Amino acid sequence: MKSLTFDIDWAPDEVVQHCLDILGEADVRATFFATHRSKLIDTIESFGHEVGIHPNFMPNFNGKGKPYRETIDQLMAIFPQARGVRFHSLGYSAPVLDYCFQSGIKYDSSVFLPFQAQPYLEYTGIRRIPFIESDLQTAIDQSGFAGTSLPYDSSVFLPFQAQPYLEYTGIRRIPFIESDLQTAIDQSGFAGTNLPYDSSLPFVYVFHPIHVFLNTYSMDHYSAAKEYYHEPEALLRHRNRQKDGVETMLVKILESNKPANFLTTGEIYNLYRETEMRGSQNKH
Ligand SMILES: [Zn+2]
Repeated sequence: MKSLTFDIDWAPDEVVQHCLDILGEADVRATFFATHRSKLIDTIESFGHEVGIHPNFMPNFNGKGKPYRETIDQLMAIFPQARGVRFHSLGYSAPVLDYCFQSGIKYDSSVFLPFQAQPYLEYTGIRRIPFIESDLQTAIDQSGFAGTSLPYDSSVFLPFQAQPYLEYTGIRRIPFIESDLQTAIDQSGFAGTNLPYDSSLPFVYVFHPIHVFLNTYSMDHYSAAKEYYHEPEALLRHRNRQKDGVETMLVKILESNKPANFLTTGEIYNLYRETEMRGSQNKH
């Protein structure tokens, strides 16, 4: 299955109309992630297309933004039917996703993966539908602009193993596969740790000291403790001692693996970097 999506990015109606004409000609329906209201955008769905939202948090990154809830609220007031989001410049954070979900958003398509991947249900309740190709990425690939000195990034959550990949930004994205919060909220006996394991691919977990400390087992549990975040003694009274929690998971992982099985994410990055460099040497 394929899907065409369009980030409207404040384009004038004429520009948007051009895409609609092309799609209409091909009799193809698509998804538009909208930044604003216009006469044309108000009619897009009548052609069978989908309209999602395209929030912009770049002003926030520049120190000039309004509270993120206002940005989401304003878009959802215009497009109350929206079920999908892609963030402008892919700029978002976990609390923003949480709030999107509270506002009716069901899926996010801000995770770029240059290969096909299964959409998955995230702990926020939002279904994440990665996109596989973007105009910018393709343009830069073709011009060979991708950098060679690469910082790494490990902030993409994927509930399955995936190949790290070089993003058009020049950053290598190393998806993570399991997070303490996700596992706690799944409350499915920490089944995630029983995923089929391919030792040739990274399997990156994310933990948070607070959740290990609390042995967090649900969001309610964490919420009750959160106000004492900076009071360890009070936190201790909220520590879960009855059920399996995040700490339980961590211990199980450590017990079921040889120490040598663990690498730092930086080491994983280095391995991919070395492989890549060997590959480019072989070409010469
Ligand atoms: Zn955008």
